[in-house]
Amino acid sequence: MKLLGDNCAVFGIVRDTACVEDIYRGLDFLQHRGQQFCGIATYDGDKIHLITHYGQVGNTFTSHELATFKGSMGIGHVSLRERQPMMWQGAVGEIAVAFSGNIINSADLLTEMKDRGEAFYHGLDIEILSKLIMQEKDVLAGISKLAVTIKGSYSLVVLSQDGIYAARDVYGFRPLMLGEGSGAFIVSSESRAVQHIGLKRLRDVRPGEVVLINRKGFETKRQLKSPRRAHCAFEWAYTASMDSIIDGLYVQEARNNLGKSLAVRDSQEGGIRADLVAPVPMSGIGHALGYHMQSGLPYQEVFLYNRYADRSYTQLTQDDRDRMAKKKLSVLEYAIQDKRIVLCDDSIVRGTQIREKVRELKHAGAKEVHVRIACPPLMYPCDFGIATRTYEELLARTYFPEGNIATMDELMALEACVAERIGADSVKYNSLESFVEALNMPRESLCLKCWDGDWPFNQ
Ligand code: SF4
Repeated sequence: MKLLGDNCAVFGIVRDTACVEDIYRGLDFLQHRGQQFCGIATYDGDKIHLITHYGQVGNTFTSHELATFKGSMGIGHVSLRERQPMMWQGAVGEIAVAFSGNIINSADLLTEMKDRGEAFYHGLDIEILSKLIMQEKDVLAGISKLAVTIKGSYSLVVLSQDGIYAARDVYGFRPLMLGEGSGAFIVSSESRAVQHIGLKRLRDVRPGEVVLINRKGFETKRQLKSPRRAHCAFEWAYTASMDSIIDGLYVQEARNNLGKSLAVRDSQEGGIRADLVAPVPMSGIGHALGYHMQSGLPYQEVFLYNRYADRSYTQLTQDDRDRMAKKKLSVLEYAIQDKRIVLCDDSIVRGTQIREKVRELKHAGAKEVHVRIACPPLMYPCDFGIATRTYEELLARTYFPEGNIATMDELMALEACVAERIGADSVKYNSLESFVEALNMPRESLCLKCWDGDWPFNQ
């Protein structure tokens, strides 16, 4: 089991003028998906220019560096785990490759490829994926081969002399969106970067689709057979930014619906005596607003977000995440004196962060804190490069070691244990059924492995 996930984002643009400024701005708006590394590559009609950095786009690229990028097409990447794009030369010409995802069978592929005489720098997923592409006669054939060779998830961009190839794995785990306008054609992990550049969203790249982007626009070069869709449901609950739309569903709408669903459950179970509903910022905001809309309880901020702290989810270890969580929120004491608070958050992993938040609120004067969680209890790690957790980290597993919550009675038994553990007056999660219903997507088009343990494909 991998201990680290690889949450990250890709971006690419072809336009009629210099493109580096747009890549820089686009990556800045994808930064929430990974802050450890960033990189930009452009093609000037003759060669590829590439620079990667440790750190965030806005803090690392200097104006001098940006001025060295020539060309009107290029790609970029932000990452939690490794430097991308990577640049290669081979029979397919000079290319730069970046991807978002995770190769589950990377160890097997690495062994096979080494046995065949391939050499690697570090054996990273991006090296494996790039070399698989370069083994074929052209980039399109190379990308198509990934679908049968790689087990896992990928949304990728390949910068080549033909243009930018953009592709999504046949299940569509990770988002990938096309946009256009003002003589520019764009591909991005999230739609918010398209909007920010001032372009129009066109559509999502379809699972299994390989698109070539050049000065003429978009061309579907290949549509590989997709056995089923498996969009990561966690994107809507937590990972994606609230101003994005993924596979036709607004993230904000999804979060509001998840919050509403929690409020409906409270009212069906006798109602709740509370004075206000509040989010754990930032990812709890959409859920708390939904709870407020459904219940009519006043919405109130009870934490002030420190905009200079990094997002806790993308810190490398759980201890880092806990440390960062402490740094990023401070209690608004005035708002909570003697108040009974419904506190909304996206999910509970170990429970250490939410326990700390409940403790802080009570210490600062809150009378009661009722925790409401948008996602069902997390029972399984993610293998598709999205969440960084292990079985040992999952609080719900402590109480249900088999990982199976089949009935509402079992869910309520778990909630009572978790409430005691985190010092809350009550805890409620969305059940898996209400979670799927709130997303309003066919269950069979979602990856729900975090909760039900089911792989969307045969192992
Ligand atoms: S296992 Fe969970 S986080 Fe990973 S892709 Fe599936 S739903 Fe998303």
